[in-house]
Amino acid sequence: MLRLQIFTFNPFQENTYLIIDEQNQCWIVDPGMYNEVEKNQLFQYIDNNNLIPKAIINTHTHIDHIFGVQACKKRYQIPFLIHRLDLPVLNGAKSSAMMFGFDFSETPTPDEYFQEGSKIELGKHVVSILLVPGHSPGSVAFYHKESGWIIGGDVLFQGSIGRTDLPGGNFETLISSIEKQFFSLHDETIVYSGHGPSTTIGFEKKHNPFLQ
Ligand SMILES: [Zn+2]
Repeated sequence: MLRLQIFTFNPFQENTYLIIDEQNQCWIVDPGMYNEVEKNQLFQYIDNNNLIPKAIINTHTHIDHIFGVQACKKRYQIPFLIHRLDLPVLNGAKSSAMMFGFDFSETPTPDEYFQEGSKIELGKHVVSILLVPGHSPGSVAFYHKESGWIIGGDVLFQGSIGRTDLPGGNFETLISSIEKQFFSLHDETIVYSGHGPSTTIGFEKKHNPFLQ
C-alpha cells in the first residue's frame, strides 16, 4: 500500500500530498507552502518521519500548487515533474501571482515531463499518469489502482468541478476529461482533490450537479 499524508496550505486552502511507500520513500505532490511556517510544517513532517523525498510531482502549475516547489527542490535536491502542456501556465505564474497580490519571485524549472498513459514508480508501486485537461491544459491525475485512489488536482471536487476561466481552461474539455478518465474508474475509487475534502467516483456520478 501507498500511504497518503495531507496538508492544507496557503490562502487558497490548497491540498499538498505526500505519497509514502513502505520504505519511507515519498513523492511530494503540489507543494503549496507559501510562508516559512508552512514550509517548516512540511519539512518537519518529512524529517521527523525519516522520509526520503524522491521527486516533486505536480497535477498542474497554478500558483497555489507551486508556491513551495522551489523550497522543496533546494532542500532535497529532487526533480520537479509536470506535463509539458502545462508549461504556458507555469511560465505565466509570476504575472498570475502579481495579479492575485502574491509574492512569487522564483518560478521553478521542470526537470522531467509526464506523458499521457505513462507510469511512475515509487519502490515497488506503479502509479498511472492520466492526462485530464480543461482546468489547465496540462493537468494530470495520479491513479494508484491497488490503493483505490486518484489524486486529481483541480479537476473534480466534492460536489463541484475545477474552474475553467483561467488561461488555457476549457469547460467542454474538462467535462470530457472527467467522463473519460475519472468516470471509467470503479465507483469506490477515492478522489483526493486539490481543494476541500476527498470524495468518491460513485458519489460524484450520483450527486455532482455539474455532471448530471
Ligand atoms: Zn488550479
